[in-house]
Amino acid sequence: MSIKAVSDATPGVVPYPAAAVAEYRAAGVWRNRSLPDELTSRFADFGDRPAVVTPETRWTYAELGARVDAFASGVLRATALEPGDRVMFQLGNVAETVVCYLGALRAGLVPVCTLAQHGPREIELLARHVGARGLFTQGDFGGGRLLPVAVDLLERGVVAVTVVVRGDEGGGTVGYRGIIAAGDEPPTTPDVDLASVAVFQLSGGTTGLPKVAPRLHEEYTYNSRAWASALGWSESTVVLYPLPLLHNAGIALALQPALLSGATLVLAPNADIDVLLDLIETERPTTLPLVPPAVAIRMLDHPRTRSTDLTSIRQYVVGGQKLAGDVARRLLDEVHLPLRQMFGMAEGMFLVTDEDASEQVVLDTVGRPISPLDEVRVVDPISGEDAPVGDLGELWMRGPYTIRGYFRAPHHNTTAFSTDGYYRTGDLGRVHRIDGIDYFSVDGRIKDVINRGVEKIHAEEVEELILEHPDVDNAAVVAMPDRVLGERACAVLVMHPGKPPLTVESLAAHLAGQGLAKYKFPERVEIRTALPLSNVGKVSRKTLREDVSRIVETEPGA
Ligand code: AMP
Repeated sequence: MSIKAVSDATPGVVPYPAAAVAEYRAAGVWRNRSLPDELTSRFADFGDRPAVVTPETRWTYAELGARVDAFASGVLRATALEPGDRVMFQLGNVAETVVCYLGALRAGLVPVCTLAQHGPREIELLARHVGARGLFTQGDFGGGRLLPVAVDLLERGVVAVTVVVRGDEGGGTVGYRGIIAAGDEPPTTPDVDLASVAVFQLSGGTTGLPKVAPRLHEEYTYNSRAWASALGWSESTVVLYPLPLLHNAGIALALQPALLSGATLVLAPNADIDVLLDLIETERPTTLPLVPPAVAIRMLDHPRTRSTDLTSIRQYVVGGQKLAGDVARRLLDEVHLPLRQMFGMAEGMFLVTDEDASEQVVLDTVGRPISPLDEVRVVDPISGEDAPVGDLGELWMRGPYTIRGYFRAPHHNTTAFSTDGYYRTGDLGRVHRIDGIDYFSVDGRIKDVINRGVEKIHAEEVEELILEHPDVDNAAVVAMPDRVLGERACAVLVMHPGKPPLTVESLAAHLAGQGLAKYKFPERVEIRTALPLSNVGKVSRKTLREDVSRIVETEPGA
């Protein structure tokens, strides 16, 4: 693939400083190659090895490569999209998603990853924010609920091209099958500017409205290569992945590292435990690179788990949310799974416990960074200095695959990043120095995010929409504890005088009307006459969180 000279940063992207780029290239972790080049250039080497398995499909690398090439040439012929265009992806875990993602990259398009669970509101805001020209959608997802959103955005001119995977085209959209059929010549290779964005990912981890993480070619490739290498993946590795593939985790710790190592990716349609156990029995996966604690708990509770042969699994990596100590213990003692803990984020950094880690490390920490060039600080929020070993502080992260700024967010970037380029995660953690090595734990959060079984809900985003209800005077959305999901959202509301209190149902109807994704709807409503204030006069979420936790924990069945 031909590479244009690295230009100045793409507008809206905070570039890595020149000295850091030089260091990463000198260390060989950035390799002067584009993401599509790295991902597809080795397809020929792996030829007839199995690449992607779904309940309906089993493709070798050669078969996948042929489809990716056809899609890459077909999408530029059958649609008005051009290399460099940004394209929204709203697709579930089907084999075509892999073809669309790789084919788009190969054609020089820039994927904008969203969740199939997102509502029309998120999709439109994101499309406008990144300036997307296209939208790929899945016609048969969730009973066909994505298609009308895609057609509406097309009709209103928010995007110029809508491609429909699986399902009826119409309304000016273009079908996946037609694109593959149009791709009867090898794709031409577009020029790639290595300073341009390879993929846009949605951040789950910052205060306020969701922000967009611009992932660049060399760093995003390195992110996945470093993960594959930390886990020792090879052609004999079989990866089982049950979470949304188009989230950063699906791309950066499952699909891309699998392809870079010649491994097999078994894509589960969802995280239903029966589906997972069936796939474990039939496909004999060697690794589950991301199991949310909620899925681990459901697996422990499921009657079939103990009679299923789990012995093919050599890595059972739990992360995305705090893993409770008792659940970690049960995974080791009751089902004898080779537990590893990980921490990951769309902004970049991954941490994981080592294969031969002691029980203390596996139970108490999320491990250590996967690259020797990664830097993690635990910063005392008051002094701004590094906290002593064992003390709580905010986790700050910087390195060769951690972004230096959100896309088109200059104001927010001044607080979300330090002047010397560390991302301030908003997570609280500590260093555990064990046998002279520093491991990290995550022990809390200072950002207003609710982690609902690894799906992130930004309190402010939901509050703003609630406040548009004419009867609501004030609102705060806070986390309430949940045994399986970890947290759920609770709305604490102050109604205007004389107005009837909102219920979970009436609030949901209001939020649905605004196009918000359903998983963000508060699952409990508390009515107050006023919201408690902190000593600086802001709503005290801490007090509310504690109040709500107390109420929930004393209820029957808690
Ligand atoms: P996302 O960008 O959606 O992957 O979310 C990243 C955020 O998930 C982090 O900033 C943390 O708040 C949370 N997170 C990820 N892994 C863990 C973990 N092992 N323990 C606690 N929180 C985690």
